[in-house]
Amino acid sequence: MEDTIAAISTGLSPAGIGIVRISGEDAIPLIGKIYRSKNKNKDITKEKSHTIHYGHIYDGDKLIDEVLVMFMKGPRTYTGEDTIEINCHGGILSVKNVLATVLKNGARLAEPGEFTKRAFLNGKMDLSQAEAVMDLLSSKNQISLDNSMKQLNGKLKSKILELREKILYDIAFIESALDDPEHISLDGYPEQLLDRVVEEKKVLQKLINSSTDGKLIQEGIKTVILGKPNAGKSSILNALIGENKAIVTDIEGTTRDTVEEYINLGGITLNMIDTAGIRETDDVVEKIGVSKAIEKSKEADLILYVIDSSRALDENDYNIMDLIKDKETIVIYNKTDLEPVVDINDIQNKLGHNIIQISALKEKGIDTLVDEIKTMFFSGNIDSNEDIVITKDRHKHLLQEAYNSLDLVEGSINSGLPEDFFSIDLLNAYTSLGKIIGEEVEEDVVKEIFAKFCTGK
Ligand code: GDP
Repeated sequence: MEDTIAAISTGLSPAGIGIVRISGEDAIPLIGKIYRSKNKNKDITKEKSHTIHYGHIYDGDKLIDEVLVMFMKGPRTYTGEDTIEINCHGGILSVKNVLATVLKNGARLAEPGEFTKRAFLNGKMDLSQAEAVMDLLSSKNQISLDNSMKQLNGKLKSKILELREKILYDIAFIESALDDPEHISLDGYPEQLLDRVVEEKKVLQKLINSSTDGKLIQEGIKTVILGKPNAGKSSILNALIGENKAIVTDIEGTTRDTVEEYINLGGITLNMIDTAGIRETDDVVEKIGVSKAIEKSKEADLILYVIDSSRALDENDYNIMDLIKDKETIVIYNKTDLEPVVDINDIQNKLGHNIIQISALKEKGIDTLVDEIKTMFFSGNIDSNEDIVITKDRHKHLLQEAYNSLDLVEGSINSGLPEDFFSIDLLNAYTSLGKIIGEEVEEDVVKEIFAKFCTGK
């Protein structure tokens, strides 16, 4: 926290502008050393806070770049510290040269997430808000982005604070009553506490339940598409992508042969597992990789099983049907534009799953498929929801801990145990909730959270 840190805060690809951010005690003297105004006689360090200055960055006598400098004194900054942002030319080399000059003149390179970590440590945001920053940057769809914005705005924080305040009231009440039994009576108190604990448990349960949606929103629905060769898997993927103007990104997994592809469907995201063999090859051997796809489907949230309605079922189909019995599956009856060979009623009788009829070729039925996926995964009114959903396992576990502690309080009340039993568990619930917003949270947890950030944020 003593050091002055710096990093490139924009993406490292050629762009209109690039931003180098500096934060810390020496940020202002540092910019004083390397910045020169047009007429060379402005002392930027004496300027008013939150102003922008045109000029040049120099490394000694060497001109480095033409820039705009944002001059912001703490504590009204992102990190809470004195902060300088240099807007320079967005060529990769220009930005790197500006950063090098900054580092040479006294800053050290920021660690991943270090600006946000400082914002948290300086009390500019709580831990749930800092985590929202990370979600925001990695959002793959509009719903996840909206949710991260809400969390960043403190929606989760305020919910947690409210719960903690209520719990703290009871902890304090019990303690005072036990200290001063002559003046504070606990008659009838357990009944009142019971009402409150039941209410608080409801709020927690709702948040915990939302994490199923939350995880799917943030990470996408892990989807595997199965079907015998030439059933139309690749055509369906293309139709889904085309229809919805999806952003498709290939992300290399840890092993070279897992490729994940994200398809956006109006707010929700399908995280397609292992589509490489399906989409990118005409190699028959690889195309026949049904068994490999079956292997992958073990970890899937959703299976899309494609039946070629124009050809009789074969061994591949029977294998797949066996597999999907107790899996979340949508059966896609494809090629409805052709003369049917497979009887749809047969399929309906054999499988308990919903069947969607489509023609990938004629792009018919794709909308119905998308709607079906939405209904299947998002119970509530996910599109327009007012409420925050929980996206982090860390939050879910802590909420569950708090819930369990309150459950123990409820049990103690119902068993007629003395009041000091209540306060231990109330205190545990209070502590668990505190960890969500970053109170009483261990240092290595904080470290781990920020290590996942990108540099410059
Ligand atoms: P995959 O091996 O399962 O990925 O199947 P493809 O998507 O490559 O499709 C195999 C063949 O079936 C291609 O010639 C497609 O044009 C054709 N096909 C896919 N969907 C339809 C459909 O709905 N109707 C018709 N008539 N042909 C289709």
